Amino acid sequence: MATADCKVCGGTGWLVAVEDGVSSAKRCNCVDAAQSEELLTRAQIPDNYRNATFDIDWPQGNPIARDILQRALLPIKTYANKFPVLEGKRGLLLTGPQGVGKTHLAVAVARELLARGHECVFFNYQTLLEKIRSGYNEKMGMSDREAYQTALDAEVLLLDDLGAHRVTDWVEDTVTSIITHRCDYRKPLIATTNFPDPDMGGKVVEKAGTVGPAKYNVHDTLEERIGPRARSRLFEMCTVVPMWGLPDYRQKARR
Ligand SMILES: [Zn+2]
Repeated sequence: MATADCKVCGGTGWLVAVEDGVSSAKRCNCVDAAQSEELLTRAQIPDNYRNATFDIDWPQGNPIARDILQRALLPIKTYANKFPVLEGKRGLLLTGPQGVGKTHLAVAVARELLARGHECVFFNYQTLLEKIRSGYNEKMGMSDREAYQTALDAEVLLLDDLGAHRVTDWVEDTVTSIITHRCDYRKPLIATTNFPDPDMGGKVVEKAGTVGPAKYNVHDTLEERIGPRARSRLFEMCTVVPMWGLPDYRQKARR
């Protein structure tokens, strides 16, 4: 797709050069620019995170936190660098308490992939489910229908705050169908979650109780929030990046 008012190609997307009486056509640069603009619009990255990069604020005077962050960054950056040639797991699951920068880093990955021409679509988990549900309950609005299709088919899905929705059978079935589809078709998924999982150590559960938002039961695990099938496929397809034990940057900023 060319830029309609491009002064170089006049909106055709092609440049014709005549050399030694032979004419040849080459793509105008505005085609790439328009494509990356379109990819960026469709990515739906929230304004707060629009400029997220791997250039982050390191925790000061807290060597343990620095160590946790350093260890978390390694698989995240490796994923971004190697994409789309990923050996084994094609997803990334960032887990840890609120405010430690999970979404920021997940978006930083997405922005790297977008810059290389890959389609990435950001969805907040709760918003996605509400969009899909309103599509089923009422007259199907195209955008709601599209939300579900996009979650299934986007080249890369960024699912933020996985599990942060009141649990019902419908919610469990819907998240299971999305994760199962992406797992079966080896479609990359980048997810973040505040909910702990016993497979990442009992200490994780204990910590989540003290730092998690009050509205959630402290005993809630990821499995309780998304169901055992979705949880099992998620672990099958994702490299898990634990970020437990990091301080809450957002709370610090508010003080
Ligand atoms: Zn042009």
